[in-house]
Amino acid sequence: MAATNSTRAQLPEGFAGQIEPLLPDDFEAFLASFDHPRSRGLRLNPAKTTWDELAPLLGFERTPLAWCADGSVVVDGVSLGRHPAHLAGLFYLQEPSSMAVAAALRPEPGWVVADLAAAPGGKTTHLASLVGPSGLVVANEVVGSRLRPLHDNLDRWGATNVVTTSLPVESMVAPTGGFDGVVLDAPCTGEALFRRDPTAIRHWSPAAVEGAARRQAALLAQAARLVHPGGVLVYSTCSFNRAENEDRIAELVTGSDQWEIEDCTWLGGSHGQSPSTSTGTGTTAAPATERTARFWPHRGPGEGQFVARLRRLGAAPPGSHDLQWPSARHRRSVDRRPVGRSSGEPSSGERSRRGSNVEATRHRPLLDPTAAWHEFRVAFVPGFGGADTQLEVRGDWIFATPPTAAGLAWPELRRPGLPLGRIRPGRFEPHPALANTLDPNQVRSVVSWPGDHPDLSAYLRGETVSDPGPDGGVLICYHRWGLGWARRSRGILKNALPPHLRRQASGLAPRRQR
Ligand code: SAM
Repeated sequence: MAATNSTRAQLPEGFAGQIEPLLPDDFEAFLASFDHPRSRGLRLNPAKTTWDELAPLLGFERTPLAWCADGSVVVDGVSLGRHPAHLAGLFYLQEPSSMAVAAALRPEPGWVVADLAAAPGGKTTHLASLVGPSGLVVANEVVGSRLRPLHDNLDRWGATNVVTTSLPVESMVAPTGGFDGVVLDAPCTGEALFRRDPTAIRHWSPAAVEGAARRQAALLAQAARLVHPGGVLVYSTCSFNRAENEDRIAELVTGSDQWEIEDCTWLGGSHGQSPSTSTGTGTTAAPATERTARFWPHRGPGEGQFVARLRRLGAAPPGSHDLQWPSARHRRSVDRRPVGRSSGEPSSGERSRRGSNVEATRHRPLLDPTAAWHEFRVAFVPGFGGADTQLEVRGDWIFATPPTAAGLAWPELRRPGLPLGRIRPGRFEPHPALANTLDPNQVRSVVSWPGDHPDLSAYLRGETVSDPGPDGGVLICYHRWGLGWARRSRGILKNALPPHLRRQASGLAPRRQR
């Protein structure tokens, strides 16, 4: 058979037959969309910038999205992944329709929410912006190796109101009463990714759809138990199949007096479908799954998305915002499988190995992390936080914990908040995440470059840069946004960007950037 670049021609057998009944009027346009260029999007970081400020830096104007005030379509041909504004966390590259998921939760500032399948962090960063500094996002990603991209994205975002876990969803616990909101962006067959990910095509089969649906049903039941009465559950997939979407919602609400499907077609997508007959509802009235929303790739920008918003009926328990977290003692039954290392923070195994190294390094002064942080803060970042910032020490590492996470001292937390840094023999080493939360006014020693400055490109490649000035730590900024750390010694800035971030930056486009 002749080789073809047509995605449509490579669609797996059986796929079209499952989707055709959902699109009686425009199935042909749906099929044709697989050979159209995919549309890309970005969501700006409202804690750091505005569209008026960002648009000239990127060189294109915003194309608004109805469902996300901070979102835009990205103009064709513009490459943004390595743009310094991206590395400084001014925006998140996110598929346009997937911005509808966190938007569908419509959390109020101050809500305490869980994102149960969080990596690489699209919805987590969006939720962090929506609940604001007085809220909290518990971001869970069961696959340990996916914590690093999640943490890297949280670092760039400068998220101060997120804690992370890496637990099976059945091991997650909620604060007393439950979460105000829970998002389950479920693992799925990824049918809506076919035009950008050939492996999704290869892995698709009717049996894979059935397997995904079984897993989704189990995860959805677990997600539901974490929401308090009056709270909201958002379920989403990037598949088109009813078995992964409306059927799962129908299964949850049928025969239950606990859940109501709330209309979320205000987001701007299409109505959801009725459930398929294979999950028939017997004699009871069919659940109102047409109130869910679908985003189709041939009807608007984006790859395709299913979103359902469900309200748990009943009044919120009194004092549900007077948060009480189950203590670690009550969590002994929680699965504590070892998970992979992420973003420089130690795994529990590494923590104990480091502990045993203490003897070997005793001749070098070891600092108390809290004292070392306070010394560093006063001398170097006097504008960061205040004396009331809550700190948590984990081994050599120190974190600023969100106020809403007080009492959430579970050993299972992979990150109990914003990593500030760690102690090294005789010194405090600030974390890249701290740099991404800072602006020059908060810091004593700063070097700032615009996007087209050759020293910025060299820094992002991990090179040293000449820069006269006093010896000591320096915050490197892109314009007014912190990017990373360096240490100046005799007029040379020694690069402190972590190696894995240097690799990401090494292909920085040579074209002019502002
Ligand atoms: N919410 C993410 C975002 O916006 O960037 C994307 C999540 S992706 C659709 C689904 C996630 O579910 C993946 O990160 C995957 O590792 C995770 N996952 C896979 N199997 C899972 C399971 N059995 N339980 C919970 N999460 C699972």
